[in-house]
Amino acid sequence: MTPNPNILQSIFEEELKTLNLDDIGIVFLNPPPDDYNYYESLAQWWMDFNDYSTRAQKQQDASFFVQFNPLSCKTPAKFRSAARHELYHIYRDGHRDRIGFFRRLFISGPAAILYQYFNIKI
Ligand SMILES: [Zn+2]
Repeated sequence: MTPNPNILQSIFEEELKTLNLDDIGIVFLNPPPDDYNYYESLAQWWMDFNDYSTRAQKQQDASFFVQFNPLSCKTPAKFRSAARHELYHIYRDGHRDRIGFFRRLFISGPAAILYQYFNIKI
């Protein structure tokens, strides 16, 4: 069962504060079927490149939101980890559309992972 959205919201706000970010929205994707096994059975590349992926997004008005795939919300710890990763992309690089594929792959992605797991900011 998905953790209470209010708990996830407060985790998100804690992580926003840690990076001194504000005004970032949150979207929980919950496309049918609402079944973790369904998402877990999908290939990772599919998760990364379709509309169901967990990612930082920029809105028309230049504000940001982070959308979370149901898998990212499976437990509070998993959610916090995903939130740290996506918020670090915003903190460091702004929106990923501005970043080329190779920069994302070799610089921006690894930087977000270092922050996500080791709290290292590069
Ligand atoms: Zn990333």
